[in-house]
Amino acid sequence: MINLDQYIRDIPDFPKKGVVYKDISPMLQSPEAMRFAVKTFIENLKGEKIDKVIGVESRGFFFATLLAEKLNAGFIPIRKPGKLPYKTHTEAYELEYGTDSLEIHQDAIEKGEKVLVHDDVLATGGTALAACNLVEKLGGEIIQCNFLVEIGFLKGRDKLKNYQVESLLKY
Ligand code: 5GP
Repeated sequence: MINLDQYIRDIPDFPKKGVVYKDISPMLQSPEAMRFAVKTFIENLKGEKIDKVIGVESRGFFFATLLAEKLNAGFIPIRKPGKLPYKTHTEAYELEYGTDSLEIHQDAIEKGEKVLVHDDVLATGGTALAACNLVEKLGGEIIQCNFLVEIGFLKGRDKLKNYQVESLLKY
């Protein structure tokens, strides 16, 4: 049993004043912590079969790839606009000021495939919801959304109320 909280570092005033950023770098530097996180993520899936694991750019890529390999599933990146080379679908989402968007390759998921959506941090939930919308546009079935860290007071879980949500650490 490992206390994963020790591997998350608070960075005050990043990326702007008043924000306390949850930095996962210490976790990525520890093979024991990474192994424990992957094991716990897998246990939380309770044996559900997964065909594809989504990693949301960019810090979602690390654990999504590790999980995909363990689950014998494919890894699918969801990226910021203009980064994916092949034909894409795009989904816009709200930010505190303005909007942003995410893209997925059009051939990334086949209709009916079972999908796990992963990102490092769940904050307001806008990013994860946009990722879920892209998966569903392609006909994927979302089995679970999982996160290393959930920032509870930002209520991201409410935005993801149609999905099963698991996080390893809640603040
Ligand atoms: P949301 O859309 O839920 O508000 O924000 C989540 C997205 O922003 C995720 O892709 C996540 O990587 C990033 N993010 C927001 N806050 C933090 C934070 O405190 N630490 C880290 N590592 N990422 C964050």
